[in-house]
Amino acid sequence: STAPAILEAKKAVATNAVAEPPSAYEKDTAILHRTPFQPPTAVSAEGLYFTLADGSRIIDAVGGAAVTCIGNGNPVVKQAIKDQVEKLSYCYNTQLSNEPAEQLAKLMLEYAPGAFEQVAFTSGGSEAMEAVIKLACQYFHETKQPQRTNFISRQLSYHGNTLGALSLSGHPSRRKVYEGILNHTSFHHVSPAYAVRFKKEGETDEQYVDRLAKELDDKFQELGPDTVIGFVAETVVGATTGCVPAPKGYFRAMKAVCDKYGALFILDEVMSGMGRMGTTMHAWQTLGDNVAPDIQAVAKGLGGGYVSIGAVLMSPRVSKGIREGSGYFFHGHTYQAHPITAAGSLAVQKVIKDDDLLAKGAEAGVYLESRLRATLLDKSSIAAPYVFDIRGGGLFWGIEFELGEKQTPKPFGALLQAKTMEKGLIIIAMAGSLEGGKGDFAMLAPPYNVTKEEIDMIVKIFVESVEDLVKEYLV
Ligand code: PMP
Repeated sequence: STAPAILEAKKAVATNAVAEPPSAYEKDTAILHRTPFQPPTAVSAEGLYFTLADGSRIIDAVGGAAVTCIGNGNPVVKQAIKDQVEKLSYCYNTQLSNEPAEQLAKLMLEYAPGAFEQVAFTSGGSEAMEAVIKLACQYFHETKQPQRTNFISRQLSYHGNTLGALSLSGHPSRRKVYEGILNHTSFHHVSPAYAVRFKKEGETDEQYVDRLAKELDDKFQELGPDTVIGFVAETVVGATTGCVPAPKGYFRAMKAVCDKYGALFILDEVMSGMGRMGTTMHAWQTLGDNVAPDIQAVAKGLGGGYVSIGAVLMSPRVSKGIREGSGYFFHGHTYQAHPITAAGSLAVQKVIKDDDLLAKGAEAGVYLESRLRATLLDKSSIAAPYVFDIRGGGLFWGIEFELGEKQTPKPFGALLQAKTMEKGLIIIAMAGSLEGGKGDFAMLAPPYNVTKEEIDMIVKIFVESVEDLVKEYLV
């Protein structure tokens, strides 16, 4: 069970937050990868473990990108997909609907009774966010307010890599190359809710929330209140700053501003939703002040990695607007509501319910948090001085680092990702997006059925990796 030799630190650079074109790019591959190096090849997976082409095994502590929520190789899901292939593999959604997709949509409405009335399926998270943008726009077309053409989202957000979703995103390194072709006319940004970095000294949570709500209100005024389609936010920020929940009362306050001006309140739960935060299916039901959005996107955990699926949930308000207007969505793709995809997703949802994985995930999350705090913040650990914050919820945990005046030859997050890989552990770690390159973070998001022993192993390798880097570069 050793890590593959291919993962030498010199080759590894963090995947997403690389500000400069990577110099170590190896072109000996037929696939144009998202990594600046040729990643090793996975051949099989069971639970949290991948077996690679060279026979070595590695443990995945982040479910790919918070995708794998019930582990790999689940027999119930495998069987459901096989059965569906036998029955009906494809029908085009403008011509025919299908049973698994209809059942999945009904089930998704049951997760938050009364909050949502209809569902539109997509093939992933970015597609879901594109659909959100177009649905929100269509809603105001149907309700005779076509002058509403502006979206307000947040700096340091990530909503996807397609051009609409990237225009919405406020993440400098992902936008950088494409800035010139992004939409700067309809997409506007306000501050994130990121208390450990941006709450002023002496400011209470309440005052901080008031300040952010005032900033949103000012942005509505600046753009013209009746020109705004909606405000969009990740309930818990994932891939840009690492599992950052908002202060209590934040979402209630932001929704109130949207309501005041008749705009839509929109949540992106592509990463933080579908049970990832434990206890409830939607993150907003626990960490979003229990304020239901007018429109919501989900993906990742919806298919648990077995199938490529995303979805848009719409409230009775939005549903009614469309129903009483044209009556259908002016948007879609060839593979939406795909029968095999829907059957696989339905089976994942069945496993979550039958195995009581929301409760188990919540319990495992409490244990993961306690182990992270006990080890990383232990005064005797050489890592402790560099751990700036541990935050998250459920099985979605971010560890932010702060090196002070010290420097590492590459961003600490990039080095950490490479270091854990060397030791046979997959995590997501990234260079920081804050001023001066600060805010490096690591993310852990194991499946909801992760065991205590697995958590112990993950935390052990993770802490050793951080300590190795501290020894190598910082002390
Ligand atoms: N929104 C959020 C909040 C995400 O975290 C992601 C993916 N990390 C996306 C949208 C895009 O999803 P996908 O990669 O499936 O297109």
